[in-house]
Amino acid sequence: MTNSVLPKGVSKEAFDKAIGEYKEALGNENVLVAPEKIAPYSKIMIPAENSQHQPSGALLARSVKDVQEVLGICNKYRIPVWPISTGRNFGYGTAAPATPGQMVLDMRGMNKIIEIDPVLCTALVEPGVTYKELVDYINERNLDVWASFPSSGGLAGPVGNTLDRGVGYNRAGEHFSNFCGLEVVLANGEVVRTGMGSIGKGETWQSYRWGYGPWVDGLFSQSNLGVVTKMGLWLMKKPPHYESFGVGWNDVESMAKGVEMASRMRLSAVMENGVVGSALYGVISTKKRSDIYDGPGAIPDAVLAKYYKDHGIPQFALFSTLYGTKEQVAVNLKICREAFESTGGFVFTGEAFNASPDARHWQRMMTGRPELHEFGNYNFIGGGGSAWFAPALPARAYDVVRCYNATKEIFNKHGFNCPIGFLLGVRHLEQVADLLFDRTNPEETQRAHACFKEALEANAKLGYGCYRTNIAFMDLAAKTYSKELRNLNKRLKRSLDPNGIIAPGKSGIYI
Ligand SMILES: Cc1cc2nc3c(=O)[nH]c(=O)nc-3n(C[C@H](O)[C@H](O)[C@H](O)COP(=O)(O)OP(=O)(O)OC[C@H]3O[C@@H](n4cnc5c(N)ncnc54)[C@H](O)[C@@H]3O)c2cc1C
Repeated sequence: MTNSVLPKGVSKEAFDKAIGEYKEALGNENVLVAPEKIAPYSKIMIPAENSQHQPSGALLARSVKDVQEVLGICNKYRIPVWPISTGRNFGYGTAAPATPGQMVLDMRGMNKIIEIDPVLCTALVEPGVTYKELVDYINERNLDVWASFPSSGGLAGPVGNTLDRGVGYNRAGEHFSNFCGLEVVLANGEVVRTGMGSIGKGETWQSYRWGYGPWVDGLFSQSNLGVVTKMGLWLMKKPPHYESFGVGWNDVESMAKGVEMASRMRLSAVMENGVVGSALYGVISTKKRSDIYDGPGAIPDAVLAKYYKDHGIPQFALFSTLYGTKEQVAVNLKICREAFESTGGFVFTGEAFNASPDARHWQRMMTGRPELHEFGNYNFIGGGGSAWFAPALPARAYDVVRCYNATKEIFNKHGFNCPIGFLLGVRHLEQVADLLFDRTNPEETQRAHACFKEALEANAKLGYGCYRTNIAFMDLAAKTYSKELRNLNKRLKRSLDPNGIIAPGKSGIYI
């Protein structure tokens, strides 16, 4: 009846009893233990052994009460549980747990869009809502708002993405700055509404974030202190007009100056969003490695440079979309043009912009139209291996060059190319490098593991910590932060989840 991986320290008899109780609470069909049923929860893309992330089963919750019951049984039997919202954390561990022997708590069945207020541009959603469902809901009702979503498009969802501090591309693209109010089930089964959700009917729940007293919402992000069952979102008001532009550069130093300039444009509210990519970051979505090179190891820089030159692709490109009235957009475009030209970049709009598939993709990301364009990345090499290496750094030219060069050198040394995107915040960037490898090749997978480890450690030494990482590297990433911070996390964990049942190992946190 049971799968071969038992939760750590739990006997087969106790586990079978717990399974019986889960079935009583959720219904037989919502408790999965057969290997073929839980296979989808153990599929990972990262360079790690599947056995290190093998769940013991999956529990399909359909209500807050289901979540409460699951946590009650988990506490009784000391069975750990790994919550997922839509479970599409591709390149970070997908739906699999950080350590083997956890039950995945799958909340895809809790997928109600409870409310969208088009006046305040807010939404209240359950964990299982996908970006596609959210966008369809908005479009079907012709609402005057846009959702912000990651480049993985409609498959994933706002609750999981926001809790993992994911990134989107319109005015509300920093998702953790654009949620408002949570409902959380604590490990002891209590249901807490944060912010203004715990007063009256929650009239101000989605419009005022801070509530009264300590602001606790941050405790539930990238953490294992509760299970989030509702989240408020801030959507973007659809602008009367928008216009996208690109900027190209052909060397790292000029691009880095451009990134610093983008921060200045954001600090002065001229620009509201932006992404910068190395040429390879765009190329991998539409081409195969064999279209460019068929030798071993990383494609040499000279080969890539010739390919870009022959195809008229700049070595680095920024994409942004300006929002406002026609007049506002025209003024801001003029300011941006002059600013970016002063960094040695060339600005392109209109036909030149539309000629680039990459530019069109980013424009859709910035204007409420999710798509799966970036999944083309997985045809570049083939073999299904991918891990996002994602340090955060200040938006200064000096740091951009340092972080880019350090990461690229390590990727190349291990035989991998380094497609890098910089997701532009106001004062910071997330540098995301897609480590693509053939996961069917054990030697290459091991090399990818070594590469990721070295990149993480080297960037931490430079002061650039991962803003988020995959389940195989959570302990290592945590260790690059201070002992005092780790102790605080441990104390919080012990106090809120004394049996350590919620997602042990998430962000390197255990009881
Ligand atoms: C081609 C491609 C492009 C991508 N582009 C981006 C991008 O632009 N930006 C970006 O951010 N990501 C990107 N990703 C990564 C990933 O696909 C997204 O971040 C995605 O939104 C995460 O999956 P999810 O929304 O299903 O979250 P989930 O997998 O459901 O959740 C993520 C994690 O949050 C925790 N969690 C989830 N739900 C709960 C809950 N209810 N309570 C407590 N903890 C919970 C769990 O630890 C879980 O593992 C990309 C991936 C691919 C393949």
